[in-house]
Amino acid sequence: MHELGVVFSVIKQIEGVSAENAVEKVHKVVLELGEVSTVIPDYLTDCWKWAVKRTQILQEAELEIVQIPAVTFCEDCKKEYPTVEFGRTCPYCHSENTYLLRGNEFIIKEIEVE
Ligand SMILES: [Zn+2]
Repeated sequence: MHELGVVFSVIKQIEGVSAENAVEKVHKVVLELGEVSTVIPDYLTDCWKWAVKRTQILQEAELEIVQIPAVTFCEDCKKEYPTVEFGRTCPYCHSENTYLLRGNEFIIKEIEVE
């Protein structure tokens, strides 16, 4: 369970940005989370609720998670396909010469302040 560590690092980044911009209260935070990222959204939300209570500026901050679909690229036929459905094997040419194009992201997309 590394979600708590992830939450702490997000909070730290937001606190840094907030201090620079003289923000006193953060209203909402939007995170972009890749579909095959190792972070589990439900755990993340639970950790978030627990961790923000211990902060000053994020106490009331709501967490919104936007999931990014995972897409894999096939080097042989140059096509893209959904990773979760087909895994490492290209559904078009059955090659395994593929790599993850996106879906592993973890990005702080938006911070809403009051
Ligand atoms: Zn292919």
